[in-house]
Amino acid sequence: MIPFNVPPFVGDELKYIEQAINLHKISGDGTFTKKCNAWLEERFAAQKVLLTTSGTSALDMAMLLCKFKAGDEVILPSYTFSSTATAILVGGAVPVFVDIRPDTMNIDETKIEAAITERTRAIVVVHYAGVACEMDAIIDIAKRHNLTVIEDAAQAVMSTYKGRACGTLGDFGCYSFHETKNYSMGEGGALLIKNPAYNERAEILREKGTNRSKFFRGQIDKYTWVDVGDSYLPSELNVAYLWAQLQRAEEVNQNRLATWQFYYDAFQDLASAGKIELPSVPPHCRHNGHMFWLKLKDLEERTRFIEHMRGEGIGCVFHYVPLHSAPAGKKYCRFCGEDVYTTRESERLVRLPMYYGMTQHDSAQVVDAAKKFFP
Ligand SMILES: *Cc1c(COP(=O)(O)O)cnc(C)c1O
Repeated sequence: MIPFNVPPFVGDELKYIEQAINLHKISGDGTFTKKCNAWLEERFAAQKVLLTTSGTSALDMAMLLCKFKAGDEVILPSYTFSSTATAILVGGAVPVFVDIRPDTMNIDETKIEAAITERTRAIVVVHYAGVACEMDAIIDIAKRHNLTVIEDAAQAVMSTYKGRACGTLGDFGCYSFHETKNYSMGEGGALLIKNPAYNERAEILREKGTNRSKFFRGQIDKYTWVDVGDSYLPSELNVAYLWAQLQRAEEVNQNRLATWQFYYDAFQDLASAGKIELPSVPPHCRHNGHMFWLKLKDLEERTRFIEHMRGEGIGCVFHYVPLHSAPAGKKYCRFCGEDVYTTRESERLVRLPMYYGMTQHDSAQVVDAAKKFFP
């Protein structure tokens, strides 16, 4: 049996978890959190990085930092995880969906401007499968309309756009370290902040509305409750697991990219024969091998393909059901413009097994099994 995903494990996780226990510091913001924040800031040239309890809570923080007013609108793709939209609701704004591009499954930057109204405050981009959105065009639109740009870079840790790290391109970036992501701590995430003016309020939101972070740095002599907030600090036990993975970030990235490339090369013949479609990575984007997807003819063929692969002992899964067709999407959001690609392309897409440490023997077996499906 080849599973769809195996949570990443590089070998030193238990050693660092034991260290955290021996340091008698297992709550948040201990030495491992400081080391991870600093590592992420340096590796990605980010002004400020704060580890969080999940990618979702990083998105929630970004939206709260925007200080939306009732009736404000935020543009996002419908082809994404629920968290992208729930965070907008947590921030008190209305999610407005626009269509995606079929080649990358990312938001179609040419459809954004038509969705902007006098209530629009922000654009959330999702770098699907770790392939960056067209950020130059999107940031240009945001500047002209005075909008905040938030990157849902949950899948894009280590990906770049024109040489710059995903997560550092917009005003806020959000990473996920869930067990299904390239680097993990079980449940976890990080908020990346571009403008230092937001640092202090971000720390306060993250620390239950208190200025405790400032107190720990010795900048004030007692701490107090100063603003709204929540608890977004991950436990040192989880962060110790992440620290082991960050130490091996390059190796994990290369390993995933090798599997991705193996699939891509092996499926060229089926793609040229017009039986499947493969992902497209724009030349100015470096992805991180987060996911390998392919597209079949339609929903019916995809359902049969997943069944066939299961029969071969291989876990393949489809992905997002567009949010605008979900019960909460209908209740809280609206779709602007025409849904040309979102529904149609989401119904054709299937994801193949992809995880750190997958052997070439296993990926070859996936390819062989997939090829048996096509007469
Ligand atoms: C995984 C993911 C999230 C949520 O991250 P969690 O860490 O599970 O909260 C949000 N958006 C996208 C696009 C994701 O892939």
